Amino acid sequence: MSHAFQQCIHPDCQASYDIGQILTACETCGSLLDVQYDWERIAVPTSLLEFETRWSNRLNPLDLSGVWRFRELLGFPADEQIVTIGEGQTILQQNDRLASVIGMNPEKLFLQYEGLNPSGSFKDNGMTAASTHARMVGAKMTACASTGNTSASLAIYAGVSGLFQCVVFVGSGKIAYGKLSQALDYGATTLQIDGDFDDALARVRELCAEHPIYLCNSVNPFRLEGQKTIMFRVLEGLGWEVPDWIVVPGGNLGNSSSFGKAFMELKQLGLIDRIPRLAIINAAGASTLDELVNDNKLQWNDGRNNAAVIRDYYASMDGEDRRASTLASAIEINRPVNLVKALRALNVCDGVVRSVTDQEIVDARALIAANGFGCEPASGATIAGLRQLRTEGVIAASDRVACVLTGHQLKDPDLTVAYHTDDSEKQAEKLHPAGVHLTPHANSPITVRNDTAAIVHALGLA
Ligand SMILES: *Cc1c(COP(=O)(O)O)cnc(C)c1O
Ligand SMILES: [Zn+2]
Repeated sequence: MSHAFQQCIHPDCQASYDIGQILTACETCGSLLDVQYDWERIAVPTSLLEFETRWSNRLNPLDLSGVWRFRELLGFPADEQIVTIGEGQTILQQNDRLASVIGMNPEKLFLQYEGLNPSGSFKDNGMTAASTHARMVGAKMTACASTGNTSASLAIYAGVSGLFQCVVFVGSGKIAYGKLSQALDYGATTLQIDGDFDDALARVRELCAEHPIYLCNSVNPFRLEGQKTIMFRVLEGLGWEVPDWIVVPGGNLGNSSSFGKAFMELKQLGLIDRIPRLAIINAAGASTLDELVNDNKLQWNDGRNNAAVIRDYYASMDGEDRRASTLASAIEINRPVNLVKALRALNVCDGVVRSVTDQEIVDARALIAANGFGCEPASGATIAGLRQLRTEGVIAASDRVACVLTGHQLKDPDLTVAYHTDDSEKQAEKLHPAGVHLTPHANSPITVRNDTAAIVHALGLA
C-alpha cells in the first residue's frame, strides 16, 4: 500500500486527494498540488550513503536509474509500476577553469550535467515519474505543451514503454530543431499551433480537462517528484555535503519548485542539517518571476501570497500584448505555472532571482562549452546569472556553487553555429533580431582552398 497522497499547497485549504486521482489543481481552491508522504510509515534509509551503495547493483533497473535509486524519497508507486529507461545517470563536474574565468576560487564551482539523460535534458527525471503515475491510473494517452524538451522526453517514454499514445503541442517556429526532431523520431503526434508556449499550454490543459488524456506538464505534481532527484545527485556528487548555492534557469519553474521541496523534505527527515541557497535565473525577455519578486516584492508569505499582485501583473502583460522573447527557447515562458511553488522554494532556500540578457546567455553558453561541457542556451543562463551574482557580491568566490546544466549542447546546433560563424545570412536570421553579436568567445571556421600550401598558410605554419 502506498503512503503517498496529493495535497493542496494552500495553507488555508490543504485538501488532500488519493494518488489514484488525476488532478492538476486543487478541486476546492484551484491551488497547485504536492505529492506528500506519511513519512512515519515509510522505511527511509537513515543515511544518504545508503542510496549511493545501490549504484553498484546495476542489473536492477530501479537501482540503475538515478531517479529510482532514491525511491523511498518519492515512494508513490509500487516497484513493479515504475516506468524507467535508465534516466538520471548524470554527473557533477568540478570545473576549475570555468571557475577562474568567472571569479570563483578553485574547487568551488560544480556543473550538474543533466544533458546526459536519455533524451538529452533534465526533463527525463520528471517524465519517468509522470509516466509511472500515468501507468498507475491506466492512462492510454499522454500529452504536453512544450518549448521542445518536454515533448522530446514525453515522446521517448511513450515510445520506449509502448504504454501510451502521445501527443505534443509546440508553438510554431519556436522550437529548436534538435528537440522537434526527437518528438517526430520517437513517434509522438506533434501539433504545431500558431501561438507561443503559453498558448500551447492553455490549449493542452483544455483538451486534457475534457478528454481522457493524461497531462505531463509540470503542473503534474508527480512529475516534480522525479525532479527532486537532481538535487539528491548533486549532494551525492559532493559526498553528501550541502553546497552553499544551487543555480538554475527558471522557465515554468518546475525545477526550482522541486528543488525547494527536495531540501525541505531532506531537512525534515534529518538527512541534511542545512539547506543551500537557491538562485533562479530568468532570461531578460521572459522575466516574470524576477519582476514579481524584485520589483513587486511578491513573497511566499506562508502560502498567503498576494494573488492580486500576480493578477495585475498578468493583466498589464496582456494589455500590452507582451510576449516572452529570448533565444533561450526552453525558458521563453511568461506565465510560469509553478510560480507559487517557486515562491515557496525561494522562501525555504533563502533564494534570489535575477535576469540575464540574451547576449550574456549565449556568451556564457559558449564559455561553458570552451571549458569542457556543451549545453543549450537556457542552461547558459546559470553561468551568466552566477557572474552577475559574483559581481554584486551576493555569491562569494569561496562559496561552493552547483549550477544545473539543464539540456544538451546538440539540442540547438543552429544557434551554436550562428554564434560561431561569420556567415552573415545565418546570423541575420538567428542572432541579430535578438540584438546579439559576435564576441571574443566565437570560434569562426576558416575557409580555405583545397590546397596543402594554402592550408599550411591558414594554420600559420608558414
Ligand atoms: C524545461 C527547461 C528549462 C526550464 O525549466 P523549468 O523547470 O520549466 O523552470 C530550462 N532549461 C532546459 C534545457 C529545459 O528543457
Ligand atoms: Zn485547495
